[in-house]
Amino acid sequence: MFDRAAARDYQSHSKLEIAEREDEANAMALRPIIILPDPKLRLISAPLGQVDDALRKLLDDMVETMHDAPGIGLAGIQIAEAIRVLVIDLAKKDEPPAPQFFVNPEIVWSSDERAVYEEGCLSIPEYYEEVERPAKVRARFLDREGKQREILAEGLLSTALQHEIDHLDGVLFIDYISKLKRDRVVKKFAKMAKRAADGPRPL
Ligand SMILES: [Zn+2]
Repeated sequence: MFDRAAARDYQSHSKLEIAEREDEANAMALRPIIILPDPKLRLISAPLGQVDDALRKLLDDMVETMHDAPGIGLAGIQIAEAIRVLVIDLAKKDEPPAPQFFVNPEIVWSSDERAVYEEGCLSIPEYYEEVERPAKVRARFLDREGKQREILAEGLLSTALQHEIDHLDGVLFIDYISKLKRDRVVKKFAKMAKRAADGPRPL
């Protein structure tokens, strides 16, 4: 953690040193991911008026957090930011990172054709279930530069986009599975959270 304003007070230091400190201030940061049963996961996120440097910094932090997890998608609310942003990176482990940025994403068309994919969620760690969704979707969004774009997504990108856009509306993938299975996983996570809160704490 380094405060940018403080960097300006380092006048007596060399320019190089100041530059290094500025770099630190600009460096990406990991953000904690909230997990079930955190009630924030059920919030409806607010749309953004514009894409500015502060938002781009947040998007970059989200990418770093997603890569570190590791995951292939992360919505703003998963780091407790109730704004309509998400990042997706479908690059495989041996491929260079290829993050995609979505601000105010909206699904404007979905196919009648359906597809099933075994989904997981960084906010419900180590739990996977098959979910059926439209196979293809057309989505409209602003990119990292604030430019309006539209894409036709299919395959894993379609699933990831729908899963992440759901987060912006407080919807989780477990909402699509049977009530029996959902109750079981919610109970398990509630129990783990209680144990973490009540249990012995490290010194
Ligand atoms: Zn998720």
